[in-house]
Amino acid sequence: MSAYRGRFAPTPSGPLHFGSLTAALASFLDARQAGGHWALRIEDIDPPRCSPENTDIIKRQLTAFGLCWDGPVRYQHDRHAAYQQALNRLIDAGLAYPCSCSRRQWQTHAIYPGWCRDAVCEPGKPVAWRLRSDLGLRPVIWQDRRLGTCRFDPAELGDSVLKRKDGPWAYQLAVVVDDADQGINQIVRGADLLDNTPWQRQLQHALDLPVPHYFHLPLMLGDDGHKLSKQNLAPALPVSEQQARPLLFQALIALDQLPPHELASASVDEQLSWAIAHWTPERLRCNDRIAP
Ligand code: GLU
Repeated sequence: MSAYRGRFAPTPSGPLHFGSLTAALASFLDARQAGGHWALRIEDIDPPRCSPENTDIIKRQLTAFGLCWDGPVRYQHDRHAAYQQALNRLIDAGLAYPCSCSRRQWQTHAIYPGWCRDAVCEPGKPVAWRLRSDLGLRPVIWQDRRLGTCRFDPAELGDSVLKRKDGPWAYQLAVVVDDADQGINQIVRGADLLDNTPWQRQLQHALDLPVPHYFHLPLMLGDDGHKLSKQNLAPALPVSEQQARPLLFQALIALDQLPPHELASASVDEQLSWAIAHWTPERLRCNDRIAP
């Protein structure tokens, strides 16, 4: 196998919370135990939602938790040319099409019904670009490192947006182009992204890009049973090492790594050294859990 290359790829629409910590920590431990490379990529493709202040806080939070990345930080905001080139290839292959429909127009359907596939419904109006999920790789099957065989028909998920009507690139296209460009071969991330993976596999196939290994982590739920997220105001992680210690310990517990009790008040560097040496991803078999 080629040398391990992993990454953490937060969207700076807010500071990191406990759910993001477990994703960052698992991908960091997996990379470090393999003696691999661990990159930080800031997915700031949507300028109004993403601010440089949030990016700065995210870096300070990761640093407080000892999650130090290798090499320069990659930013998506200046990758327009690469995404455009990928979109052009998809258009040339007949796998991307312009779409004038608004969500309101198809709100009674579970997924976008593909009305613009053969011709734009309302020519002259602004268009988004969508993926022809029906013409790409189908079914999509991969061996997830936690979930085993995953099988999806992307056409049942719909024609994902690749570029939005108001301009920004969509996550699906940007993530695939950058993972390949950065040589990422191991993706460790939350199971909330599981049903995005089929579109990403279709894009890799259409663009002739290598296929990384996937490891989708259990979701971290709040005590109301909902996924921890910025939208439901999960508390931001601290930016001081002292305050990071107990949360890092909790994150190791949440990842089923069974850290010894003495480690609870140890420095983040001591906790991480133990965790890298003892990282056992196979322990993460079971399902979603409640965050502390
Ligand atoms: N930027 C995405 C997020 O913050 C994660 C991307 C990924 O890990 O593929 O949810």
